[in-house]
Amino acid sequence: MSHPADERYLRERIATLGQRLYARGLSPGTSGNISVRLDDESWLCTPTNSCMGELAPDEISRLDWQGNLLGGKPPSKEYFFHLAYYANRPAAQAIVHLHSSYSSAVACLDDLDPQSALPPITPYFVMRVGNLPLLPYRRPGDERLGEDIAAYAPHHAAVLLANHGPVVTGKDLEATVSAAEELEETAKLYLLLRDKPYRELSHAQIAELKDVFGAVWES
Ligand code: ZN
Repeated sequence: MSHPADERYLRERIATLGQRLYARGLSPGTSGNISVRLDDESWLCTPTNSCMGELAPDEISRLDWQGNLLGGKPPSKEYFFHLAYYANRPAAQAIVHLHSSYSSAVACLDDLDPQSALPPITPYFVMRVGNLPLLPYRRPGDERLGEDIAAYAPHHAAVLLANHGPVVTGKDLEATVSAAEELEETAKLYLLLRDKPYRELSHAQIAELKDVFGAVWES
């Protein structure tokens, strides 16, 4: 069991970080969701139809690992792909999913490398996010999205859902939110650069990031 104080702290951090993402314009309307592992029995997820800028800590959903509601309001309708990510990536302690403008715009481009939707243009993207596979378009609620995520989760900390948006995991809630912000900034840079001759990090520069910082990048 988790300590009640940890659960209280995490509920408040989800609300605070939700506010931050909303204030930055990364979760318009009621889009986006945040979740965090609590313990062997349960996890927290933002509720359905909730605005990330106005989350009430007590209303955040607590679910078991089968997806049953244990407390709070009913979870986001997208909770099932969080569950698929956690089930297949033990290192994922938290997940942030956004419909943020630049990442979602990239998700609509038709000439992406499906194994790596964004090129390695900055060291922080390589270190904090890594290769970003593009998953096929699925209608909202399509359970196959959970199967897609399950297939990529063991090898990728983040994925991009075609014509939808990014799903980012991390070692804790703070790192995951930071990685989602880093991804959004990288998508913005990429769109700024697309019609210009830009320079990607070289194989040697990426190898250096792997050696020094343990970055995970397959090229
Ligand atoms: Zn979504």
